[in-house]
Amino acid sequence: MSDTTSTQKFEYKAEMQQLLHLIINSLYTNQEIFLRELISNASDALNKARFQRLTDHSGEDSTEYKITITVDQDANTLSVEDTGVGMTRDDLIERLGTIASSGTLAFIEEQKASGKPMDAGMIGQFGVGFYSAFMVADQIRIETLHGGEDAEPMDWVSDGTGTYEITSGTRSEPGTKITLHLKEDAKEFSEEVRIRSIIRKYSNFVDFPIHLGEDQVNTLKALWKTRKDEVSDEERSEFYKFISGDYSEPLGHLHLQIEGLLSFDALLFIPSQAPYSFFREERRSDLHLYCSGVFVRDDAEELLPEYLNFVRGIVDTDDLPLNVSREVTQNSPVAKRIRSTLTGKILGLLSEWASDDIERYNTFFENFGPALKTGLFTGLDKRDDLLELMRYPSTSGEHVTSLEDYVTRMPDHQESIYFLLADSLESARKSPHLEVFSRKALEVLLLVDPIDALTLPNVEKYKDKTFTNVTSAELDLRDDSDIEPESIPGDEVDTLLTQFRVQLGDRVQDVVASKRLVDSAATLVTAKDAMDPQLERMMKSMNPEFEGAKKVLELNVDHPLMKNILALTSTNQDSLVNDTIEQVYEGALLLDGNLTEPSDFVSRMTRILVDVTAEPSPVS
Ligand code: ADP
Ligand code: MG
Repeated sequence: MSDTTSTQKFEYKAEMQQLLHLIINSLYTNQEIFLRELISNASDALNKARFQRLTDHSGEDSTEYKITITVDQDANTLSVEDTGVGMTRDDLIERLGTIASSGTLAFIEEQKASGKPMDAGMIGQFGVGFYSAFMVADQIRIETLHGGEDAEPMDWVSDGTGTYEITSGTRSEPGTKITLHLKEDAKEFSEEVRIRSIIRKYSNFVDFPIHLGEDQVNTLKALWKTRKDEVSDEERSEFYKFISGDYSEPLGHLHLQIEGLLSFDALLFIPSQAPYSFFREERRSDLHLYCSGVFVRDDAEELLPEYLNFVRGIVDTDDLPLNVSREVTQNSPVAKRIRSTLTGKILGLLSEWASDDIERYNTFFENFGPALKTGLFTGLDKRDDLLELMRYPSTSGEHVTSLEDYVTRMPDHQESIYFLLADSLESARKSPHLEVFSRKALEVLLLVDPIDALTLPNVEKYKDKTFTNVTSAELDLRDDSDIEPESIPGDEVDTLLTQFRVQLGDRVQDVVASKRLVDSAATLVTAKDAMDPQLERMMKSMNPEFEGAKKVLELNVDHPLMKNILALTSTNQDSLVNDTIEQVYEGALLLDGNLTEPSDFVSRMTRILVDVTAEPSPVS
């Protein structure tokens, strides 16, 4: 048997040490937030304990679920005690000793490097809330007993630098007591008045009584069950901060109190900015599910479609039993109905903003547009509503446009909504594909968000208008009036095309005379139904073996370069002709971002430059 009575010393992993160092040395503003973090952990532990006991049906539950805070000015300590689930020895090592999310450290360092003020309020989002206590403590002691059957009491002590120690402890009742020995400059946190005001500020909404001295400090008010008109903006915003760990104001909220066939209360928020991990990591939902007032889970993703998983808040229903697994809830008709109601209400709110509060809507869309866009292929039942909510940059100006506005601007003869996929607005605006559109004053949507390549091309229509990719080969936008009077005669065009076809071989599907180019010499287009270059590039980046469909090379036969090539051909300057053809082709690849091997391109260019920069040879 292992000896659990003696003290065992552990070293923090390097990453944790760095994090602790950052917490202790960089977070100066808003240090009081540490108390919110400890209370929120205590409340999580109490929720888990209550839920477990309510669902295992083992008779009467006599536990008094509460949080007790004690301060001692003489000893310079503060402690937070709960009667929750407690921690086992393994929990202490695994749950407390490691950073849950891999991006956390990098993100905090990024913030620090950016020179932005490091607000301690940020810490709650990172899953390292406990360690924020080291901002104010030079030593922390945890005494804990896990509620499980053969669990043994454990003590954990650390000064937050290199190591922590675990010893077997003496706690007799399940739960956890965390005692901070305060730093010299943090003595204020042993004053009862100060602590009371911090609790009121950040933790008023905790579901369990918080005792300090003789009194209960918090009001135990289930805000979502309170009548809407009795909830102040301030209360709501505090509540949002409390459940989300976000430190900024929410962008908006929905308070639903639904009664009838289905009954539930919900208080939902749309954050004003995406949490740091939102698009970096697998997103977990942040919707808290309560059943008949009892907390069940804080990640009830089954109650919202994935494209709305930026919405945070609480849903409380009497119609779901406490004791059901996630899988059962997922498929229950009740959950489905709640989900469909929530979806409708949220989309309704967004479309209200979109028409009446454009600035707010644009802020929303900048932050969560990419999430909403995923609904274009996952949320088919709401596709029409979602399309109305989309905003895209376009060639018509600096601002994003809705599809509705785009359609209103379309001239009568235009049948399609045109779009171009690109990496960035800058490269989009320079694309040769736009030339003919700009000449004809046709507006093109510029889709530069990576998710666009996966979503919009799969949408067939907006109202009765189809979507057309400007790179698709069947476009025929140039009419006769566009043909230059000086253009190459037809039979010479054939010679030119053949020349290119022979040189490029099966690297292209075909070479044709362009009907769309105005200033550029050449461009690659996709055959109808083939994959867009942008999408193809994404596929390649995921799978290097991926081979896209062959492209059609379109030549601008009115371009002076084409005449020059023909002239050179007739004087038998084969190597220069070949180099030029290669250069035209690879240049077009380069513009699409698909030139994988630039070295040939450059050496060929150098060869050509040597020719044109050479001293004119003396006439013999
Ligand atoms: P988070 O709360 O986001 O998980 P924390 O750093 O605040 O991150 O806490 C880390 C983990 O430590 C918690 O997930 C929980 O498992 C454990 N823990 C912290 N405080 C308590 C407590 N009072 N009772 C039980 N477990 C706790
Ligand atoms: Mg926490």
